[in-house]
Amino acid sequence: MQFINKHHLIPPDWDAWFTTANGRRTYDYEADYGELHNLDLAKNHLINEQNGLCAYCQKQLTISTASIEHIVPKSQNKALSTNYYNLVAVCKNPPVDPLNNKRHCDKERGNKLLVNIIMLQDCQVTKTKNHSYFAANSDGSLSTKHSIIQELSDPIDAFLNILNINHHSILKNNRAQLLHKIIEPSKNMSHSEKSRYYRAQFHRILNDKRIEYRQYLLIWFGNKIGIN
Ligand SMILES: [Zn+2]
Repeated sequence: MQFINKHHLIPPDWDAWFTTANGRRTYDYEADYGELHNLDLAKNHLINEQNGLCAYCQKQLTISTASIEHIVPKSQNKALSTNYYNLVAVCKNPPVDPLNNKRHCDKERGNKLLVNIIMLQDCQVTKTKNHSYFAANSDGSLSTKHSIIQELSDPIDAFLNILNINHHSILKNNRAQLLHKIIEPSKNMSHSEKSRYYRAQFHRILNDKRIEYRQYLLIWFGNKIGIN
């Protein structure tokens, strides 16, 4: 759910990363996969491009916990399967959520089609407005924003459900713990001190693109200071 900025040049080594040792580049990820020995370099590039966070849930990624995800699934469009603009880094193989027996991100997405909000810059939280399609709740969960138009609420519900963005034991709990750690110092503050503190936290998070679960936190703090 973070905006992935692809509005710059294709990395100069991109083609080399998707060329096999014997010089084959079929533009077919599936066919070449076992022979692409520099895929970690491509993965590393994508992770850095995303400020170290999963494109879907904004959990922190490393080379070993990330996989290369095709926004348009490779089963639907082979020609896009090694295209820079179609690839992002996401969580690879997280533990199963005991509540619904599901993992999250790549493992749950499979070949299902999703509304492509991660490529839309105007679906973000800004200094003055929450343009995202989500509401952030204090229990760590994310839900579809009530005010979004009817035609979009079903695809956004599907985005949250298919990717299991409210994976209870990892994503929802981690977000709640992080939120409560940040708001802990404000416990005994007066109303106006609290609102100044929340404003400062909102701007701190807005200015740091590497903060885990960043969009959830921006939506939550934004809501507390009147940015909806
Ligand atoms: Zn993820």
